[in-house]
Amino acid sequence: MTLPLIQFSELPPEGRNFSGEIREDWFGLIGKYDPIFAPPLKYDVTVRLDDGDVIVEGAVSASFQLQCSHCAARLPWRVLLDPYFTCEAKEGGTLDLTAQLREDILLALPGYPRCEESNVEPHPCQKEGAFAPESEFVPLTGEEPSDTPKPNVWEALDRLPPSGSSPAR
Ligand SMILES: [Zn+2]
Repeated sequence: MTLPLIQFSELPPEGRNFSGEIREDWFGLIGKYDPIFAPPLKYDVTVRLDDGDVIVEGAVSASFQLQCSHCAARLPWRVLLDPYFTCEAKEGGTLDLTAQLREDILLALPGYPRCEESNVEPHPCQKEGAFAPESEFVPLTGEEPSDTPKPNVWEALDRLPPSGSSPAR
């Protein structure tokens, strides 16, 4: 099942509502590391014409299994476009809402997702700890770490040979 092809000639002036669920994977993501569509995709939009434009308004959501950019584990992700709004120049007599939604949803996916960033079920990344978190980095202030023994200046002076005719002691 795909979205109905919208015939502009059949749209009433106030627009028409299209809503439903799609379980078919028409995202065409087949690469090993691509997001995996987790049905259903839900849509509830109103399509109307405004001068030469086609306006689509409503809400769209779809879930995916993404691959963590850090540890390669899968993590759930939900794209929620609410409000969803597009305004396209009216071309021809029909609008393929499928193509439009597909593109908008894919554009909303994060490019480098991480386990702990999941907006559905965040969990600690398995690779966490392989790299020191930023909070443990020692800032480079130019100061000596406090646990480094400081040279004893007075001892060093004591070791100097007597240098004058008026010893201090
Ligand atoms: Zn991870």
